[in-house]
Amino acid sequence: MAHFINSDCAGCGVCAANCPMQAIYTSDNHYYEVKPEECIDCAVCESVCPTGAIQQA
Ligand code: SF4
Ligand code: SF4
Repeated sequence: MAHFINSDCAGCGVCAANCPMQAIYTSDNHYYEVKPEECIDCAVCESVCPTGAIQQA
C-alpha cells in the first residue's frame, strides 16, 4: 500500500520537499502525485500537508 494525494491538494510542494524517497512529483493534470512503487509509507508527507490531501491507500 502507498500513500496518495487527493483533489484537496493546493500545490504547495511541501510534501515533495520532505519525502525521504523523493517519491512525490508534479504532473500536468493534478498538482502532485505519489509514485506508489517508490513510497515506503513513512507518512511524513501526510503529517506535513497543510490541506490534509494525503492519505494512506
Ligand atoms: S503538501 Fe499537500 S497541498 Fe502541498 S503539494 Fe503536497 S499534497 Fe498538495
Ligand atoms: S509516505 Fe513517505 S515515502 Fe511515501 S510519499 Fe509520503 S513521504 Fe514519501
